Amino acid sequence: MRRLGYLVIDMLVDHACELSQKSVTRAKDRATLSALFREPPPQDGQDIEAVIETAGEHIFSNVMHVDHPRFFAFAPSPSNFVSAMADALASGFNVFTGVALEGSAAAEIEVTVLDWLRQICGLPKPAGGVLVSGGSMANLTALATARRVALGDEWHHATLYSSDQTHSSVGRAVSILGFRSSQLRTIPSDEGFRIQLDSLRKAIHQDRSNGLRPFCVVANAGTINTGAVDPLRDIADICKDERMWFHADGAYGAASLLTDEGKEALRGLELVDSLSLDPHKWLFQPYDIGCVLVRDPRWLEETFRVLPEYLKEVLSWGEGVNFSDRSPELTRRFRGLKLWMSVKAFGLDAFRRAVATGLSNARFAEKQLRSNPVWEVLTPASLGVVAFRYHPVGRSDTDLNRINLAISQRCVAGGFAMVVTTELRNQTALRLCTINPRTSTEDISDTIRYLERAGASAS
Ligand SMILES: *Cc1c(COP(=O)(O)O)cnc(C)c1O
Repeated sequence: MRRLGYLVIDMLVDHACELSQKSVTRAKDRATLSALFREPPPQDGQDIEAVIETAGEHIFSNVMHVDHPRFFAFAPSPSNFVSAMADALASGFNVFTGVALEGSAAAEIEVTVLDWLRQICGLPKPAGGVLVSGGSMANLTALATARRVALGDEWHHATLYSSDQTHSSVGRAVSILGFRSSQLRTIPSDEGFRIQLDSLRKAIHQDRSNGLRPFCVVANAGTINTGAVDPLRDIADICKDERMWFHADGAYGAASLLTDEGKEALRGLELVDSLSLDPHKWLFQPYDIGCVLVRDPRWLEETFRVLPEYLKEVLSWGEGVNFSDRSPELTRRFRGLKLWMSVKAFGLDAFRRAVATGLSNARFAEKQLRSNPVWEVLTPASLGVVAFRYHPVGRSDTDLNRINLAISQRCVAGGFAMVVTTELRNQTALRLCTINPRTSTEDISDTIRYLERAGASAS
């Protein structure tokens, strides 16, 4: 057991030390991978050292490194080693955190880190929540709760509202919950990709006068496309006036509340009824850990509590929080340990500095892009995201879309940096999400120069 453990640790430390020299993206094609791995399940065991060697040689070398300093796509996951060790401990002790009787101290640790997150987000007591697998589950859990608490069983004429920049997990949650797709109203966004308040108000009033039942607004606290933040205070006012539920998706953006800049950008977030955030993005945790917070955790329990006969005894034990009462999961891994251990080990100030680095790196990237007229900045740095496109003079939009797609394809194939496209008002845009604190300004300038060469050869 010890030999195996040391072998694993050595692999992880080597990886951490060599990561910035490794290719970000390169993987063998599917046929090659399939030829490497496909076999009937072996009937006899093999030497574990050989199995681990295979994993090192063929598995971990054929995945993208989402914590690489030049991985700028989607939301990177710049993990940390303390938390990886915490995950190993949580697995090694195989802690069950579904019910407090079985995971007593673990439940208290999760209560503690949830309260830390509550404080970071500025929600008043007794707000609390539950750790889930990620933002998608957090949005699903929050919207299930909104539906139960706001509507009971009468949700067939109910409507929800969110902007055209909302993460796809919201639409999926709404569909899983059994709403018709038309019950989710998509409100256009303004030139800054924030929800248009006039359109929102108009849609709510129109639906109400047509006998429908507007019940929830889903606001963006950092869109994945551009880092845009919906006007949270105004949305809070609308929700108050209209007696609607206010949910905010801060999956990647909410962590910026650790900094003054983030507090300024997200003013009004403290007024939500429910909030999603993803510590596995900008709080530097390894996958997976997401979080949903609600103004009153009893709302979660109203929504999810069940009492099967075989759990009656443990669930009514009376002490501690049974987290199985707060989400669709009964069996849960001990996700809170890694956040607790890493905050204890580094201190919240280190997290604050790391988030601030991500914010300033996006501004640095924007400045670099603005210094060369071949780049068009489409949206300025916002919560660690800048969107832009290669734009040599005299090209049609169709041409530009093709060129920028080619730049992204060059990145994926090349392995120097991971930058892909998104679509902003039918324009193909590149984006840099700079939330990895190990990304240097040199990584950013080198990446922009790399993109420039790819753009020149595609034009
Ligand atoms: C990442 C993200 C999600 C989805 O979260 P997962 O952890 O991938 O399930 C939802 N909303 C926003 C704004 C995100 O950035």
